[in-house]
Amino acid sequence: MRIEHDFVCTLANGLHARPASLLAQCAESFHAIIQIRRRVTPEPAPVDIRSVLSIIGLDVREGDRCTITATGDDADAAIAALREVIELRLDAAEQAADAEVKRVVSVATRVPRVLRQLSVRAIAGESVCHGAAIGEVVILGGLSLPVDAARATATSIPRELAAARAAIDALHAHLAARANKAGTGMAGASTEAAILAAHAQIASDPALWDSIRHAITAGATAPQAVVAAADSLVARLRAAESAYVRDRAIDVQDIAMQLVERLLPGATADQQPLARDSIVFAEALTANQLLRLDRAHLKGLVLGSVGKTSHTVILARGFGIPCVINVAHAAVAAPPGDLAAIDGDGGYAVAPATPDVVAYFAGRQAAAQRRAARLRPLSQGVPITRDGHRLEVGTNASSAAEVAAGIAHGSDGIGLFRTEFMFLERDLAPDEDEQLAAYADAVREAAGAPVIFRTFDIGGDKLAPYLHIDAEENPFLGVRGIRLHQRYPALLDIQLRAIIRAAAAAPVNTVRVMAPMVATPAEAAWFRDRVLDAITQVRAAGHAAHDTIPIGVMIEVPAAAMSIDLLAPHVDFFSIGTNDLCQYALAADRGNAGVATLNDPLHPAFLRLLRLLVRDANAAAKWIGVCGEMGGRVTNVALLIGLGVNEISGSSANVLALKQAIRAADASQCRAILDAACACADSTDVVKLLNTGSWRAQSAAPSILDLGCIEVDVDLPSKAHAIEHAVELLWIAGRTNRPRDVDAAAWAREETYSTGLGHGFAIPHCKSDAVQAATLVVVKLRAPIEWGSMDNQPVHTVMLLAVPTSGEGEGNDAAKQHMKIFASLARKLMHEEFRDALVALHDPAAIEAFMKRELGLA
Ligand code: PEP
Ligand code: MG
Repeated sequence: MRIEHDFVCTLANGLHARPASLLAQCAESFHAIIQIRRRVTPEPAPVDIRSVLSIIGLDVREGDRCTITATGDDADAAIAALREVIELRLDAAEQAADAEVKRVVSVATRVPRVLRQLSVRAIAGESVCHGAAIGEVVILGGLSLPVDAARATATSIPRELAAARAAIDALHAHLAARANKAGTGMAGASTEAAILAAHAQIASDPALWDSIRHAITAGATAPQAVVAAADSLVARLRAAESAYVRDRAIDVQDIAMQLVERLLPGATADQQPLARDSIVFAEALTANQLLRLDRAHLKGLVLGSVGKTSHTVILARGFGIPCVINVAHAAVAAPPGDLAAIDGDGGYAVAPATPDVVAYFAGRQAAAQRRAARLRPLSQGVPITRDGHRLEVGTNASSAAEVAAGIAHGSDGIGLFRTEFMFLERDLAPDEDEQLAAYADAVREAAGAPVIFRTFDIGGDKLAPYLHIDAEENPFLGVRGIRLHQRYPALLDIQLRAIIRAAAAAPVNTVRVMAPMVATPAEAAWFRDRVLDAITQVRAAGHAAHDTIPIGVMIEVPAAAMSIDLLAPHVDFFSIGTNDLCQYALAADRGNAGVATLNDPLHPAFLRLLRLLVRDANAAAKWIGVCGEMGGRVTNVALLIGLGVNEISGSSANVLALKQAIRAADASQCRAILDAACACADSTDVVKLLNTGSWRAQSAAPSILDLGCIEVDVDLPSKAHAIEHAVELLWIAGRTNRPRDVDAAAWAREETYSTGLGHGFAIPHCKSDAVQAATLVVVKLRAPIEWGSMDNQPVHTVMLLAVPTSGEGEGNDAAKQHMKIFASLARKLMHEEFRDALVALHDPAAIEAFMKRELGLA
């Protein structure tokens, strides 16, 4: 029996993966041979309706006529069932697709408007390491086999076929079970279930199996066959006209990776060398894997589930590598070899990066350089708040190069030198001379600034094969830090001797040493004894050594935080490791993205713990620093000042902004903010408190006009470019650290009404907590641009008025001043003489003087 059924595709996205998988699933329960044809000219060959990939490959679009042909005993029943699916169920699949598109679009709004106008393909994640970069996409843990597996020869075709079939069946069963489970879940479950069901279908797709079987028969091993089959299917899908079909290549790669992982566990985590400037995409990347990458070529990281305070992220930050985490399907998010751009601040990547995108990113990099040059003088010297509170700003490092970068950025010292990275990725620990050379380099680069060396913090997520630690169920609660030192005291002695010898080259007390993961006073006493003994050993060996070296312990364990008074007699200083202290205090693994929202140092309970322990350290008259990631964030600066610590230490990139913020702060206000934060119920309220900016000293506000925020003869092609550029000037001048938020605030007004006031002038404006000081930016364009002005005239002069919300309730002085300046500007623009005078001016200093005079500013 042969039966045909015609239908017209009414789906906006055509017959994509999910509707195709519904058709394939439906056909599976019948014996008939069932094919589908796309009735276009020239007509592509009919395909098996049980193959989702083949249906996708047909590229059926909305409005296309299709014919389904069933041949066999149950052909009529099969056609009836398929008709029901087409008429009743495909629409539901479409709605699920729409919901997903909406989710993707909402994520994409973080991408700057200028890029959105270029219709780039953005890959969204979470921002963790700043900076922008361009490079070639390199997939780690992607679809490439380790060298030996790639070279292996198959010994038996039946055995390879059986292995491949078993992997496919197991994966199919696994995905189908997950789809079932997701389908019974709550919100968003139907979309997830539909995607999983489509993936299950692809895993057992006849076209994929045919291709794998073919490769095995030709001599490939099962994993090689999976890679070859996926490569050829992916190439076919990528050649499709429809972007939707092209994007389905990712699903195939995803499935193939899961198959390879089943055939060769651990294989997809293997690595390849970087040959040129690269943006590495990986689902997960350990600190060790990152260290193995050639940093000369590593320009950016796009990662899947990786914790914000994981050592991978910490290292990336130290190396100044822009990094985006929590990217869905990171290892298959872009094809290898494409040019990609990454924006670590915005938390997204773009692939492929077209020449326009490359030009945009080059502009961003140039702006960052201008900002660094402009703000460099502010980075000199230990910053003091307006009311006289001193707070050193250090840098964390793990190499002499990072020390040099920290000092170049204006660090007052190295608050944490992580020594353990020198111990990883090798077969034997470094000997005393090798360590001495490394530490001496670091001390030299510090150029007289203090350096705190932390003894090797191995264990947890950092392992060295030659240090034996039995398999542990909870490595972060196991043998790590000082607990490992106690297992290997001779190794600790070697390190201490090297540090003490390096210290001899600098003035006394410049080099300091501290132990990680101390929990008890007994451990602190033990560490002190070993350090003192090491001084004796160094001298006995005939080397120079100071009589003393400041000895400290890290406060990373809640027990230590609650025992400051008992630890104090054994130490000279403390340094708070907020990364570990936070994970232990809140019982939320720092590397587990699933509990990332709980692992939050702004949680009031954690702030209470910090307040308590710093109070105890101050009472014991001990120097105390913060070297966890929390200490390096500008947004936390009020809390850190309020705590009363002596030093904060983070990545060198933030030194300048931190010093600037400290200099503008009022410490007594900061203490009030900290107390208020400790009384909050959750960190959302703490963030709101910080955003009020009430911790800034009122007297800190600079003039509204800043010569750096006035530019003439600028070439900008559109309104989006012009607003972004004006905001960028604000950022370069150090008047905002969150340019993206200022841009969004300006556009929030712009979208309700055009700020093109006529006669070629526009005054975009915003009030935002991201603005640190009221500023009038003036940008005169070389060629006028379209603005949607009231009089339809293009705009040649853009004046961005940006005002902080900080420290002001509605109706107070600052807010009134904003309204006054805006109104007065608007009034002035009504007068031809004012406009003509401004148009005639081409020197920023003259414009500044003119505006001051006209607006009656001091
Ligand atoms: C910390 O725990 O905060 C810390 C600085 O040490 P690490 O991140 O290396 O564990
Ligand atoms: Mg730690």
